[in-house]
Amino acid sequence: MKELVIISGKGGTGKTSVSAALASLSESTVIADCDVDAADLHLVLSPAVMESGIFESGKLASIDKSKCVSCGRCLELCRFEAVKNNDGIFSIEETSCEGCGVCVHFCPVNAIMFDERKCGEWYISKSRFGTVSHARLFAGAENSGKLVSLVRKKAKEKTSEENKSFIITDGPPGIGCPVIASITGADAVLIVTEPTLSGEHDLERIASLIKHFRIPFFVCVNRFDVNEEITSRVEKKTLELGGIVAGKIPYSKIFTQSQIRALTVMESDCVEIKNIIKNIWEKICHRMMTI
Ligand code: SF4
Ligand code: SF4
Repeated sequence: MKELVIISGKGGTGKTSVSAALASLSESTVIADCDVDAADLHLVLSPAVMESGIFESGKLASIDKSKCVSCGRCLELCRFEAVKNNDGIFSIEETSCEGCGVCVHFCPVNAIMFDERKCGEWYISKSRFGTVSHARLFAGAENSGKLVSLVRKKAKEKTSEENKSFIITDGPPGIGCPVIASITGADAVLIVTEPTLSGEHDLERIASLIKHFRIPFFVCVNRFDVNEEITSRVEKKTLELGGIVAGKIPYSKIFTQSQIRALTVMESDCVEIKNIIKNIWEKICHRMMTI
């Protein structure tokens, strides 16, 4: 089983379109959508949910009003100003509670419950390109890194169950905790970048992160013809950093047009783009077989 994680320094580089296109090219793939804060791969894959579950992480305090004697101890002790007193009726604001447990410990009548915090939902779905492991983080919920790890774990389980050989993971943008959670233990990473000054800068930051984990990486320059001078620098920088240039994709309206029709570009009639993406996929597969 091999896993390719597709990431980008920031959103809007075309990472998800590239992920969907590559996922459509492999017949033996499970797809993992790890962009849990802003999942949009499902817009193209239209997956039908087969299994789902609640993602819990951390703890959340809440007051059982039938037991509370309104002593005010919890209000006094909470350092996060999560406890509210409304005319002697005490309650805990969910978004402010940090789950430290101090109020639970010191409540004289055990009126404070301390349950698992429900942070999101995970799904296993069927799509026209195979099984998809994906998730949704609830608004304001944290710990997206843990949810990313859960989505990857479920994708691996499905890959084994279905006797598949490949996982294509659409990772989150940036270089934060969710990105680290999405690349740890992966076989290779594909960075989708664009020829802008910020794209160039992000590439260096993200490549340094990947090198730290000793994971081989490829770079694909999307909309390369928008600035060929920066594209050349990105290619040069990729090689200097020890990466492999997987390919360059020209600017094309077909990406947006396909997305609007809920299709991958591989389902469009743009032969030029399809051939470029096929070549990128073949290059990555070929190199990954030797890893
Ligand atoms: S510490 Fe317990 S009893 Fe006192 S106000 Fe808070 S919940 Fe109510
Ligand atoms: S668990 Fe901690 S943060 Fe939450 S209400 Fe109690 S004292 Fe405040």
